Amino acid sequence: GSKNIGFIGLGNMGNHMASHLIKAGHKLHVFDISKPAVESLAAKGATAYTKTTELAKNSDFVITMLPNNDIVNASYEEMTSDGVNKNTIFIDSSTIDPNLVKSLQKRISAKGARFIDAPVSGGVPGAEQGTLTFMVGATDEEYNAVKSILECMGKRITHCGTYGMGQAAKICNNMMLGISMIGVAEAMNLAIRQGLNPHTFAEIINSSTGRCWASELYNPVPGVTPTAPANRDYAGGFSTDLITKDLGLASGVATSSNTPIPMGAMAHQIYRTLKSQGLGSKDFSVVYDFMKNEKYN
Ligand code: NAD
Repeated sequence: GSKNIGFIGLGNMGNHMASHLIKAGHKLHVFDISKPAVESLAAKGATAYTKTTELAKNSDFVITMLPNNDIVNASYEEMTSDGVNKNTIFIDSSTIDPNLVKSLQKRISAKGARFIDAPVSGGVPGAEQGTLTFMVGATDEEYNAVKSILECMGKRITHCGTYGMGQAAKICNNMMLGISMIGVAEAMNLAIRQGLNPHTFAEIINSSTGRCWASELYNPVPGVTPTAPANRDYAGGFSTDLITKDLGLASGVATSSNTPIPMGAMAHQIYRTLKSQGLGSKDFSVVYDFMKNEKYN
């Protein structure tokens, strides 16, 4: 049936996700620090709030889709500052540190409500089409309680384990993505510099052992995958800022668990270098453009 759902963070991802919940017949209660973001959801029938404390009190579920650790933490401090409804389940779908998830879960359950992590993959197109993958860290009972809500926005809802395990899965996936994009950029560049046609070489890797998502669906060389950001000067897509943030989260958990991630750490430094060159808002496949040096072609 129709539920009261709070939604905080109506950006590139959140605005599409909230729209799907409205389409599915739920009553949406929304907040964002950006006025235009709130107005676009209000125009679709959502109720706009100026106080997240009130938003939470009117919601059975509250979903947060915010940029980073600090903002997520501050948002929950504020939202729960004068108490919570005992039946509310807070669902954070941002990509944040699993340790922050565990701490928020403790703080919110001590106040009497519930908190779970449910980060997503699938990017802006997945949010727009309602085909996201949700990685859920929760008890069985909480997972079963939120599944039908998440199904309005995604096509695969996976229970990864206890609190923080959704983020653990998300961060490891993105670490691999960051590494493999650099691998594809390096190999494409070396092949092209030896005189190979990029289309021919892409065809070879995509039917050989080098094949991966970055080579097949998101090739960093302009002209190879028609829909990839490489064809529009690396605009849109998944920003270098965000992959750098996610590799920073991987570094943090690797440090605290004494786990070697040599490739992840190097990938982190490479994307950070791109950021320092002013490429933070470009799609992360811009790493190819950065590596190729026209001078030697
Ligand atoms: P975004 O920057 O487009 O949206 C964030 C929204 O939060 C903005 O509308 C902003 O105004 C709002 N906001 C900022 N501070 C706020 C506050 N204190 N209170 C309320 N609202 C506030 O980011 P996005 O691309 O939608 O990503 C959100 C999260 O999802 C990030 O953690 C990101 O890593 C993750 N994610 C993004 C993608 C992607 O492809 N963009 C994919 C998977 C996961």
